[in-house]
Amino acid sequence: MLDSLFRPRGVAVIGASNNTFSIGNRVMKNLITHNFKGGIYPVHPKEPEILGLKAYPSILDVPGPVDIASIVVKSTMVPQVVEDCGKKGVKFVIIHTAGFSEMGPDGAKLQDALLDAARKYGVRVYGPNSQGIMNSDPEISVYANFTFTPMRPGKASILAQSGGVAEMLNLNLRKMGSGFRMYASHGNATDVNTNELLEYLGNDRETRTIVMHIESMKDTPRFIELCRSIAKDKALLAIRTGRTAVAAKAVSSHTGSLMQQDSLTDAIFERAGVMRFNTTEEMISAAYAFATQPVPKGPRVAIVANAGGPAIMAIDECVANGLQLAKLSDETKKKLRAGLIPEANVENPVDIAATANADHFGLTLSALNDDPGVDCILITMVTPFFVDCDAIAARIAQTAKTLTKPVVDVIMTNENWAGVIQTIKDAGIPVFDFPETGSRVLASMVRYTQIQNHLSEKPAVASADKAKAQQVLAKAPGGFISQAAAFEILNAYQVPAPTTIQIAGRKVPSGLNYPAVLKVDSEAVVHKSDVGGVKLNIGGEAELQQSLTEMSGRFPGANFIVQEQAPKGTELIIGLKREPGVGPVLMFGLGGIFVEVLKDVSFRLAPLSEAGAGRMIRELHSLPLLTGTRGLPAADLAAIERLLISLSQLAIDLPEISEMDLNPVFVYPQGQGVKVVDVRMKKEQA
Ligand code: ADP
Ligand code: MG
Repeated sequence: MLDSLFRPRGVAVIGASNNTFSIGNRVMKNLITHNFKGGIYPVHPKEPEILGLKAYPSILDVPGPVDIASIVVKSTMVPQVVEDCGKKGVKFVIIHTAGFSEMGPDGAKLQDALLDAARKYGVRVYGPNSQGIMNSDPEISVYANFTFTPMRPGKASILAQSGGVAEMLNLNLRKMGSGFRMYASHGNATDVNTNELLEYLGNDRETRTIVMHIESMKDTPRFIELCRSIAKDKALLAIRTGRTAVAAKAVSSHTGSLMQQDSLTDAIFERAGVMRFNTTEEMISAAYAFATQPVPKGPRVAIVANAGGPAIMAIDECVANGLQLAKLSDETKKKLRAGLIPEANVENPVDIAATANADHFGLTLSALNDDPGVDCILITMVTPFFVDCDAIAARIAQTAKTLTKPVVDVIMTNENWAGVIQTIKDAGIPVFDFPETGSRVLASMVRYTQIQNHLSEKPAVASADKAKAQQVLAKAPGGFISQAAAFEILNAYQVPAPTTIQIAGRKVPSGLNYPAVLKVDSEAVVHKSDVGGVKLNIGGEAELQQSLTEMSGRFPGANFIVQEQAPKGTELIIGLKREPGVGPVLMFGLGGIFVEVLKDVSFRLAPLSEAGAGRMIRELHSLPLLTGTRGLPAADLAAIERLLISLSQLAIDLPEISEMDLNPVFVYPQGQGVKVVDVRMKKEQA
């Protein structure tokens, strides 16, 4: 439990200082100026007072209870100081000091020593090399951190290992006009870790959104589990850095080589219900809105504008990001027509004209809020000199109190109307400079609504003969297993494939439908057709016998399979890769150049839900090639979905399978299904 960390009764600063240019001075100042509600105890070997507060020569001399000791002494002294903290009964040491594991073997030794001391007394370690924590709850108001941005209560919480990133997030959130709730920047994270902090912030009622920068993920399954539960009522936002720890890539499979760290992070976040952003600015803009506004129930946006052009730009950006233009009800239009000037446009976007006054803004906002066909409202406004803009701002602020739907305001003005912006911000409406920004912010709020819906989806179940598959797998040696066995396993999962028969000795099987395909089946041959190991269009048994003799000559000692030849379909590639410490990841894409050149593939962590399988398909940029364009028939997407679900089930049921490539899978026109014609399957070496 991190309660004592975020709601401490007392904070000691070990290494407190009267020197303005020291961290020990800054932490003291931050605690004092933010009126920390607990005891503040500077510890200094000689000074009687620090910043007007009585100082103590040692933590052991401090009279009151100390839940946090902020430690800024030099690294070599830290283990002893932690030991003393243990004796005093300190619950958490926040170690600001750097020079530990991040500095090589000597630092690592010091780190071990301080951790030993901490363990001995049950002291929890925050850091080292960490900035600290803040809790803006007015009942606590603790700023145990050496950074410089003032603390103001708000509803966004910040979680970032790096002090620089945490500060940058906080700073920009503040610049936009938002306060924050809690703040954690935990540096080396030797003991108190990201998951633990996330859980704490997730349980904090006043936190509405958590802004994260995650550098290294220690226990990914736990992270996912935590996020999935938190995201039900708090938006989780994260920045794209693609530095998730991923084991070295094995390039033995397509899936392995295509799955870069970045796409793995995407898959993890998707599963976790975390929204990923490309830029800090976009993330912070969204956080600002999540912290101040309710979440829209759906994607339908209504736009109020007193200038036409920017509203059109907003529409473009809204639609490009998945929002829909709300269709206003007749009742709404009637209200608008009655209240606005005759020149006003009462369709969406509602153009109330540049002459619009406070009444016009007020009645329009209320009417849109009351329209059941509207999920969120975007105001794009300029500040014309011929109307009373202060009165407009005051009316928007007043009306905001009665609104139940999210509102975002784009104000295009200059510093002369700073008061207008302030009034609207003070009313809790996020204000942005650009129509695109406001539109994207609303879109991200809608995305969150979708994420919430996805989180409640159940894993899809496919019927399968798991015992049969396990039997086949048990017989196979580790490494790439024979295609004959791999097709048997697929068969147990009802994966559609052409009849495949292992050739025993040199005897060709009877009862096969022709044309057929002969393939070499050997662990040593990765790309069969590259070395002449695939013979297509075999017309009958005699020809098969002949091809077999010929191929056996070229691959002495190898095994062979013969397969019925499937009609040509659109080529897909589907893969599975079990990522150490993460879990099974499925990959889907179109074959050929789409995968080789364009790398147009989507990834998901198994298990898939039914709808999730559908999204995995629809996410492809080349999707139009599957939905029917330019004379191409629409492909059997439902069959692809079923196939993905079967493979998801296989991935969950058979953890011994570490990698799998189905390449190609043929998909046929709607209603005609799919066929897997080639499989490469790897069993984890025992
Ligand atoms: P590899 O990928 O090892 O070269 P494949 O088994 O994928 O070998 O065969 C190469 C190509 O031959 C496939 O991409 C596909 O176009 C075609 N092919 C293979 N098996 C069949 C089959 N049973 N029916 C139709 N075409 C097939
Ligand atoms: Mg192949």
